[in-house]
Amino acid sequence: MQVYTHPACLAHDTGPEHVERPARLSTVLRALETAHPDIDWQPAPRATRGQLLRVHDEALLATVLETAPHVLISLDPDTILSPGSGEAALRAAGAGVAAVDAVLEGRTQRAFCAVRPPGHHATASAAMGFCLFNNIAVAARHALDKHGLERVVVADFDVHHGNGTQAIFAQEPQLRFASSHQWPLYPGSGAHNQTGIGNIANAPLPEGAGSAAFRAAWQTELLPFLDAFKPQLVLISAGFDGHQRDPLANLQLDTNDYAWITRELVVIANRHCGGRVVSMLEGGYDLTALAECSVAHVDSLRW
Ligand SMILES: [Zn+2]
Repeated sequence: MQVYTHPACLAHDTGPEHVERPARLSTVLRALETAHPDIDWQPAPRATRGQLLRVHDEALLATVLETAPHVLISLDPDTILSPGSGEAALRAAGAGVAAVDAVLEGRTQRAFCAVRPPGHHATASAAMGFCLFNNIAVAARHALDKHGLERVVVADFDVHHGNGTQAIFAQEPQLRFASSHQWPLYPGSGAHNQTGIGNIANAPLPEGAGSAAFRAAWQTELLPFLDAFKPQLVLISAGFDGHQRDPLANLQLDTNDYAWITRELVVIANRHCGGRVVSMLEGGYDLTALAECSVAHVDSLRW
């Protein structure tokens, strides 16, 4: 079990009032170090321009990497660029690429990327919703294009819909994307009838939904959809903001739900692809819940 991270991810400064703050990552790292002293820690390399350009256009790379602000600037009402943000974004995306390489080259069976900024809202051309580059999409494209895989799945259980990931892969027959999320909620996409070319499955959950609704959606709909594709690699957008303690949304999930869904995804990976899973941290804004859920998630990845 490898965990990828980099100190640069702590230097993405979003300002004193922002929920997507460095303390999120330092809390996760401390919790994992305590709970799993034998983790194989790996430094996240920078993603290369070529790896990013498989997903993003030149203009977004220029905005994130060449603006070089001396103060904090807002790319949208939620999304901040600081002096350290370009480097953090490169390391966050690079973590996923390195983890895919390690898993597909047989150096580890499973990997978790403890990074920020998160990624699943970023589209091909726009940073949004705390996300600069779409880390999971860059990792998926790397698996398809560099390693020649033909069937990759992305499971996204963040409480917000992964609009960027969906948009990037909506016409991609070699990737299936499955998401559960509170709906309606930011960013507004993720309705049940958004199915791409038949490669997208969305399970919107109403405000207040809890464990039973969450597990039913995955068990009856999303997990069979991913399983039927016989994936060669399982990728996870692991957001823990559906936890009942989280301040940004109103699902009532608890830590056991995240342990459960992770084990279910591991079962699919074990059945089809030698257990190969790469998971990337997305949201989660209550520090206590985030620490607990990250540990439970990694527990299940090691299961
Ligand atoms: Zn989220």
